[in-house]
Formats: sequence, structure tokens, C-alpha cells
Amino acid sequence: MTPSSPLAAVRDEIRALASYHVADPAGLVKLDAMENPYELPEVLRHELASLMANCPVNRYPTAGADSLRQRLREVMGVPAGCDLILGNGSDELIQMLAMVFNRPGAVMLAPEPTFVMYRMIATFVGMPFVGVPLKADFSLDEEAMLAAIAEHKPALVFLAYPNNPTGNLFDARVVQRIIDAAPGVVVVDEAYFPFSDTSFLHTLDRQPKALVMRTLSKQGLAGLRLGFLVGGNDLVAELDKVRLPYNINTLTQIFAEKILERVDVLIDQAAAIVSDRELLAARLAELPGVEVYPSAANFILCRVADAAACHQGLKQRNILIKNLHGSHPFLENCLRFTVGTAEENEQLFAALAAILGA
Ligand SMILES: *Cc1c(COP(=O)(O)O)cnc(C)c1O
Repeated sequence: MTPSSPLAAVRDEIRALASYHVADPAGLVKLDAMENPYELPEVLRHELASLMANCPVNRYPTAGADSLRQRLREVMGVPAGCDLILGNGSDELIQMLAMVFNRPGAVMLAPEPTFVMYRMIATFVGMPFVGVPLKADFSLDEEAMLAAIAEHKPALVFLAYPNNPTGNLFDARVVQRIIDAAPGVVVVDEAYFPFSDTSFLHTLDRQPKALVMRTLSKQGLAGLRLGFLVGGNDLVAELDKVRLPYNINTLTQIFAEKILERVDVLIDQAAAIVSDRELLAARLAELPGVEVYPSAANFILCRVADAAACHQGLKQRNILIKNLHGSHPFLENCLRFTVGTAEENEQLFAALAAILGA
């Protein structure tokens, strides 16, 4: 790099980052990213096609996406006195939260290992991040969390509920005590709500410090990029100030609104995934040397003797999964499998059995 290189002007924290790696899934059975493996019903797809044919793409999107927000309010049961704000995926909402709460001296805090975007986005916006280790069984270390909250007085706490990549659901009473103790805002990230059926949404009208974040990504609409954040009106109004005016594109708005008329389809698909998750978990547990962790999400975390070898062997058999080895000391030799269709799960099981010589 010459002294005049423009790279010299890039912030050091950004230069030090590796870009977010997404594996090329071409031709592979894709069980790496917690997508719903099912398609939408054909009738619905035809309706979407005609909506698309008439979509006014020459115009900017409806800025506040009011009609979609209203539909989400009803479908998700947002409490009175609360409002919701939409994001281009919940990743964008995390970014907005970080921008809004990143006052001088403020920190973001989350247990770890957890969803990596919290820490990444803190780095993007220059907000200090405090990671508090989970216990070895991946439950919240209440004492350590409360001590860290007392010490760092975080402006923002993120709790993924259920947690990714571990799959477990934290104890709701501990989550509540963290909300009570935190001086700032606690975001309960319910990205996997469709598979856990447990939520803090109904508590929001009586605790203004809590926010609930959801996404349609894991539920079958990952390609649309639509997340939403629910909280008290006043707080949501502040967050809305940093939302870029047209962050939800027109196609996402009209498609999501239409698909939410058939939320029963998404709910049925999630129910199938949950029952297949239990089957897959039980079968994986029979394999030699595989430790299966309990999951309330649409993926399963396992520990094996050699994660890299399993990951590579599965790839050779055209199955793409996530190798978590190296991402956190607690995830040594851990693999994460998204629950696919029954057929895909069978392929995964057979391939893994072959690799492990079972
Ligand atoms: C996948 C995931 C998200 C992000 O979802 P979007 O696709 O950006 O809506 C947020 N939180 C957790 C815990 C996740 O696993």
C-alpha cells in the first residue's frame, strides 16, 4: 500500500474485519442458513405473480409501509400502546438500534456465543461490545450477566430467544431479571419464535425498557428481507428517525402483505419443521460420538469428534451445513444443521452415518 492509498483512510476497525463469508450453495442441499425448505402453495405463487406484474416499480415504495405494518400488527398480536418498525431484515434493525443508542460511553452487551451480527454491527458503528460467556450448557450465566450489567451499564442488551447458534431457549425468568436490572434497553430477538412458541411480546405494554425483534426470514421469506421491532410508542418513534425513508422495497411490501393473508401456511410449515427437528435430533443422537444439544429453533447444534472432517465429508456428498469450530471456544467441534425437508434430513443423516462409519 502506498502512502497515498485510499485504504489508509479506512477506519482501523473496518480494515481489521474479514468480510462476512457466505458459502456458495450452487447444487448443494442447503442446510446452513436456517431457511425454511418449503415453497409457497401454487395458487398463492400465481397471485404473487399477478401482483408483481402490476407493481409500480417506477414509483418509490410507500415510505411508512403502513398497510403492511397494520397487517403485521394484527397477525402477530402487537399489544395496544406498542408500535412496530420494519427493517430490511432484522439485521438492519440491529444497525438502527446501534446507531440510536451509541452515545459516548455507551456499550452493547450480549451473552456469547450468540448471533454474530450484534458484535459485528457494534464494530461497524464504533460501539464498544461486551460479551458475557454463557454457561457450558449454553444457559445464561445470570450472576455473570447481572455483574456485567452493573459494571458496564449497557445502553443496549441483546438476548436471542431462542439463541443462535446454540438453539436453546433461555430461562424466561432469568431474561426477565436481566430486563429488570438493565439500565438501558433489552432487545429480545425472537427470530426463531415460529419454532419455539415462547415470546415476550405480550409483556411489552408493561415494560417500556424491553423490545421484541422478529423476522420473517426463518419462517419462509428469507429472500424478502423483512424484520420488525416492537416496543413502546415513544421509543419506536425515536428509532424511526434513523430508518432510511424507503428501506422496505415495494415488492417486499406487497408480497409480504399478501403472504400474511395465508399465515396459516407458514404456521403449518413451521409445525412440520418442529416435528422433523425432533425426529432428526433423535436419530443424530444415535450416531457414535455425536452429542446433540436441545433445540427450540429450526436447527440443531451437535458436537462431533472432528467437525472439519464432517463438514468436508458432507460437502463432498453435496450437503452444505455450518461448521462452528473456531468461532468461539465453547463451540469446539460443533456443527449446526438446519432442519430441512424430511428427505433432506434423511440425506443428512445417511451421509453423516457414512462419514462416522456407523
Ligand atoms: C437469522 C437471525 C437474525 C437475522 O435475520 P434477518 O434475516 O436479518 O431478518 C436475527 N437474529 C437471529 C438470532 C438470527 O438467527
